[in-house]
Amino acid sequence: MAKVYNWQIGREMEYLYEGKRPKKQFAAVFDINRCIGCQTCTMSCKSTWTFDKGQEYMWWNNVETKPYGGYPQFWDHRILEMLGTQSWENGVYTGKTIFEARPEGAIALGFMPSEPEWRFPNIYEDTPTGWSSTVELPVHQNWMFYLQRICNHCTYPACLASCPRKAIYKREEDGIVLIDQNRCGGFKKCVEACPYKKSLYREYTGRSEKCIACYPRVEEGTIPRCVATCVGKIRLQGFLNPPEKVDPSNPIDYLVHVEKVALPLYPQFGLEPNVYYIPPRWVPRDFLTQMFGPGVEAAIRKRTNLDSTLFAVLRLFGTTQRIISKFKPTSKEVVAYDSGGNEVIRVSLEEPTYIRPFYDEKYKIHRFNEP
Ligand code: SF4
Ligand code: SF4
Repeated sequence: MAKVYNWQIGREMEYLYEGKRPKKQFAAVFDINRCIGCQTCTMSCKSTWTFDKGQEYMWWNNVETKPYGGYPQFWDHRILEMLGTQSWENGVYTGKTIFEARPEGAIALGFMPSEPEWRFPNIYEDTPTGWSSTVELPVHQNWMFYLQRICNHCTYPACLASCPRKAIYKREEDGIVLIDQNRCGGFKKCVEACPYKKSLYREYTGRSEKCIACYPRVEEGTIPRCVATCVGKIRLQGFLNPPEKVDPSNPIDYLVHVEKVALPLYPQFGLEPNVYYIPPRWVPRDFLTQMFGPGVEAAIRKRTNLDSTLFAVLRLFGTTQRIISKFKPTSKEVVAYDSGGNEVIRVSLEEPTYIRPFYDEKYKIHRFNEP
């Protein structure tokens, strides 16, 4: 095992291969606060990539209802329990990652879900926990939230490390993790090792498959289908720089590194996942801290008290099909540019509003304006 630096856990950790970051890293930010659980993302992915024979239970994108839902069922409960104590001290993870906690002879700590656990992609949909007849702020007594999940195109992928055929590779040009279908031997080691359970086995072909980050679109500077179709405009896809090369004018860098308002999912697993979440404001903090690490409280504070630049970046979500490389806010609008420096969208920072007169002379009627 080699020693690699994982900035999400603030320390070096063990990994099978030497660390080598790609030229740029595919990444996305999902704002959980905006998701309405409509599953449009799920269906747009399915109708694009997994509509064929043997892919019936293959959901590269899924949206599950926390705390009870999961696809496959209990995926996170099980690995969290296996991992044992997980603690943080001053932003440094002091427990073990799945690579450090591996049993003898294995590459990573993992498990194979049972068949029935893959059957229900949205079990416990909209089921809250707790019960209270009143709603209290800032944290609700009974709560649930939607967790949108795709492959994280991890910096240190467990799927890749565990593959005995070396069929999984991480692209140098954009950090997208792919499975070579000609090399895959169907050993399912990736399914066992990925703690997010985002590598899936297809019985019909005897190969494993996973989210490909819509790379044919990304190569052309177009965002993936799940991002493009998101009704709630909760998703922003782009490229992330490592912390020592932060570009504050890159919206993903800004959200992840500068404002630290978007956090990785279960950073303690040790994979440096590259999908980042803005945590939901109404959920008990200890639950969120276990899920997104120690930055939760500060992230929620920032999301609640938006400064003008953060507000400007959040306005860009869901506004263009092009991948945004840079943004520039002014007092009235925010302008976004692609990797070639071309302007792709210009969004007003003010919602145009029109207050109608209480009495309409033309139709001789009264109108009420909702505040
Ligand atoms: S989320 Fe899983 S399948 Fe995706 S790159 Fe990471 S380890 Fe591999
Ligand atoms: S399309 Fe967007 S709003 Fe709808 S479930 Fe997916 S992430 Fe949530």
